[in-house]
Amino acid sequence: MSDKDREHAGDGPGADVTSFGFRPVAVEERQGLVNAVFARVADRYDLMNDLMSGGLHRLWKSDLVGWLAPPRSAAPWHLLDVAGGTGDVALKVLEAGGAGISAIICDISDAMLRVGRKRARQAGWGEERLAFVQGNGEALPFPDRSFDAYTIAFGIRNITHVDRALREAFRVLRPGGRFLCLEFSEVQMPLLDRLYDAWSFGAIPRLGQLAAGDAEPYRYLVESIRRFPPQERFAEMIVEAGFERVAYRNLTGGIAAIHSGWRL
Ligand code: SAM
Repeated sequence: MSDKDREHAGDGPGADVTSFGFRPVAVEERQGLVNAVFARVADRYDLMNDLMSGGLHRLWKSDLVGWLAPPRSAAPWHLLDVAGGTGDVALKVLEAGGAGISAIICDISDAMLRVGRKRARQAGWGEERLAFVQGNGEALPFPDRSFDAYTIAFGIRNITHVDRALREAFRVLRPGGRFLCLEFSEVQMPLLDRLYDAWSFGAIPRLGQLAAGDAEPYRYLVESIRRFPPQERFAEMIVEAGFERVAYRNLTGGIAAIHSGWRL
């Protein structure tokens, strides 16, 4: 296991120090710093996502929902979308599936949940179909075996102990339940990686400054992507949490990847 992997698994000898972007920080300090980022960006989060990814994040989220293939029947089926923020994934799942689907968005940030609640109301989804719960992905406030599917999109790299979050995902899924994670990953095309670096480290913080008046949170977002384990190592971590039939798909040359696993 490399230092990069160990740091995110939270099981290395230096587990009292982790990274916030490229900056080493004390483990207990990190979540507060992450929360401050999302408190700062929440109101502009959806707009900035479109600007930073050129709209690609919408296609990637549609790919996630396509792979999940939510049932179209009226039979009850419960989704937990962790780090669900302003609600993109849960809303797409509800739109794609049948009347039996209900979803909970669980996110640690009050500011992000506030934006999500407003969007859900505007889209006409009541609490009985889409509920919002403030909680930490490392210690989910839900009973064992209570969901049919667990999704997390661009959330897991923000969580300090990725291994704990994966174990929690396994715990709350019922046997036969599905885990799906969409996250930025390691670019696997030689020319694309250089273009992507220039875009990420050059353009994105500048876009943040221009469109949101604040470059710093976007620098963290870009740096945190580079600290996250690459596809194969992350797949191993999902297996280590107990999941089976683990697989992944690269999106746009590996800029992002969707990892899938089953609790059997
Ligand atoms: N899933 C949404 C999407 O794809 O648009 C939001 C992703 S946003 C980049 C990351 C989210 O992770 C933020 O809403 C943040 O509050 C949340 N988050 C960070 N740490 C968390 C934790 N420990 N538990 C739950 N949510 C967390």
